[in-house]
Amino acid sequence: MKVLLANPRGFCAGVDRAIQIVEKSLERYGAPIYVRHEIVHNKHVVDSLRAKGAIFIDELDDIPSKDKDRPVIFSAHGVPKSVPASAEAQNIFYIDATCPLVSKVHREAERHHKNGHHIILIGHAGHPEVIGTMGQLPEGAVDLIETVEEAENYMPPAGFEDKLSFATQTTLSVDDTSDIIQVLQRRFPSIQAPHKEDICYATTNRQNAVKELAQRCNKVMVVGSTNSSNSKRLVEVALRYGAEQAWLVENKNAIPWVHLEKSDIVGISAGASAPEILVEGVLESLKERYNCSFETLSVTQEDVVFKLPRVLRAQKQDKKQAS
Ligand code: SF4
Repeated sequence: MKVLLANPRGFCAGVDRAIQIVEKSLERYGAPIYVRHEIVHNKHVVDSLRAKGAIFIDELDDIPSKDKDRPVIFSAHGVPKSVPASAEAQNIFYIDATCPLVSKVHREAERHHKNGHHIILIGHAGHPEVIGTMGQLPEGAVDLIETVEEAENYMPPAGFEDKLSFATQTTLSVDDTSDIIQVLQRRFPSIQAPHKEDICYATTNRQNAVKELAQRCNKVMVVGSTNSSNSKRLVEVALRYGAEQAWLVENKNAIPWVHLEKSDIVGISAGASAPEILVEGVLESLKERYNCSFETLSVTQEDVVFKLPRVLRAQKQDKKQAS
């Protein structure tokens, strides 16, 4: 079996930072640490942090009163403004692990709102990032659009036809989003776009790598969890760009063996929240069954790193001073 590995794949800088924030907080403050929402959308990551002492909650109110003095971390997807406000009101110490590229979208939406614009957010209803971005602005200041059809039928609030701006979720399909944007720009020629693309570098690079992969493989497996937006998009991209079949696989136990044959050329990628150890597990399982040859298909090299929040960076200095 020929196996082609997409590069880049797996962890992005925002996910890496968010996981480090939880790990370093556990080192610094001890267990338990509360984490509002899954820190990143990956079961393996969440389970391993849980084993180290992180407790995952849906809302701040889920923290028992005896633990209100424990730190709380907000997930990489970002949170509505009401969440840090509520933490402050309750004197809860929080660390925000929102990816800096999501925060950039937040600040830009705020800027457009301040300039008197109505915002159209392109994204998926119910995704925590969308909830977080909409929650940066007062109710009614943002409308969500999910599809080309919705863009075709969209009616802005009266008086805002010439005062519209759009923003997007960071983990969307580059192609689908561009179709939606084209409709909006045709219908509302003065609509303002983000300064720089909101779909992040990691989403774009992983999709580009899968586009190449899908042209050379008949089957593609994307390692990732079912609630991971960017992982699901990679499966769609694989199918659109030439793979006959593509699957999202949580880990090696989810490999769709019945659909695989030794003559296949199998492409492997991983969503931005999927750790490489899960990819390695899949490769090991393939090797156990088939005589595999491996090749890496690289479209770009990534060197993005995000700084940790100041409160955790100080830890390094403490250690330096102590030594
Ligand atoms: Fe940040 Fe992009 Fe990674 Fe999301 S996928 S955490 S926006 S770098």
